[in-house]
Amino acid sequence: MQTNFTGKQINDTETKSSEKIIRKCVHCGMCNATCPTYGITGDELEGPRGRIYLIKDMLENNKPANKKIAKHIDSCLSCYSCMTTCPSGVNYMHLIDHGRNHVEATYKRPLFDRLVRNILSYTLPRPNVFLAISMLTKIVKPFSFLFPSFIKNSLNLMPNKIPSKKIKNKRVYQSDGDKTIARVALLTGCVQRVISPEINESTIRLLNRHNVEVVVLPEIDCCGSLNHHLGKKELAHLSFKKNINFWHEEYLENGLDAIISNTSGCGTTLKDYGFIFRDDKELIKKAKKISELTKDITEFLDENLKLKFKKTDEKKYKIAYHSACSMQHGQKVHEQPMNIIKETGNTVLTIPDGHLCCGSAGTYNILHQKMAKSLLRNKVENIKKVSPDFIATGNIGCISQISSGISIPIIHTVEVIDWFTGGPKPYKLKDL
Ligand code: SF4
Ligand code: SF4
Repeated sequence: MQTNFTGKQINDTETKSSEKIIRKCVHCGMCNATCPTYGITGDELEGPRGRIYLIKDMLENNKPANKKIAKHIDSCLSCYSCMTTCPSGVNYMHLIDHGRNHVEATYKRPLFDRLVRNILSYTLPRPNVFLAISMLTKIVKPFSFLFPSFIKNSLNLMPNKIPSKKIKNKRVYQSDGDKTIARVALLTGCVQRVISPEINESTIRLLNRHNVEVVVLPEIDCCGSLNHHLGKKELAHLSFKKNINFWHEEYLENGLDAIISNTSGCGTTLKDYGFIFRDDKELIKKAKKISELTKDITEFLDENLKLKFKKTDEKKYKIAYHSACSMQHGQKVHEQPMNIIKETGNTVLTIPDGHLCCGSAGTYNILHQKMAKSLLRNKVENIKKVSPDFIATGNIGCISQISSGISIPIIHTVEVIDWFTGGPKPYKLKDL
């Protein structure tokens, strides 16, 4: 695509990168075919190609965003399905991130929108604040029918039960065997550790059982992606910088073989730290190292460990694997989780239209409830077509979203692997 940026504009790091990305686009429109929001609306501006034009126009002409532009940029799920489809290798992820920052910096949203976005930005990345809210919503949830639909729908996304923690908080979880073969840091996340502590517990148990020492740095809460995708650049960068410095210090002082993410949305952002700080002389090397070290848990297992599966006559199940967008499109980790589940002896079922988003997408299912519900409805119908005993996925956001629309239990992939290598049966499957 031809561009007309001035030399002065190109001096800006972000604009320089975006210009390169835009020039790669040949406006063929193939990406529209796999874009969930285009698929539902049929509107060119609700597809990647249309959004690329909108961002180009704003950046080239130094135009502030307006209501219409903000609507189309905001309604992008950042699912990156378009990136998997694009034959020209357009890095839409970096472009939409720039677009979101530009919208946030130049457009004043209506008061209600600002309020909701600020509440999400403040509460979700703070585990203690979010825990207090989760407790409150548990009490209020049975009366959700009394609230306006926006609040009712948001309440429905919260789990009915918040399981208590089974493993004490520690900085270092030593490996079970005499010989430690690797030392990794685990990102325990902000929302996940509150509503599903069993996911981190399964991860730690599984790694320790296979002679891997796990470090959980108490200084690190949120990876920063929640604010990053809300276009709140300064807040996101505060988290990014803190995480980079703490993990890098641990890497230098005590050694780290990997940084493990078990929430694929967060993993995608961690792997992008190197790009985000590409022009920061102080942080570039450290940020690149953190990105290099980051692995999704299934990627780490696949590349580094020989898993010891239980040789028992444990009942086997039909498991529908939901490949989160951030996993299959963001990190291109798709086969590994399915292959490992197959190795447990269970059957993996492929969900039709599995490349399409379930509507979770971080805070999307709160901010864009109509679109998120349509996508959820499609996902649920497709899951039902394969009649699984339960569903497995690698992202807490998808677990919350899908469980709000289907009664078939859904658990994290790592819980399946932990269970079939000697861990407990996940509590959500107690009736199976
Ligand atoms: S598929 Fe790629 S090259 Fe074609 S319009 Fe979409 S982003 Fe541009
Ligand atoms: S990231 Fe997803 S929703 Fe956004 S334009 Fe690409 S395919 Fe569409």
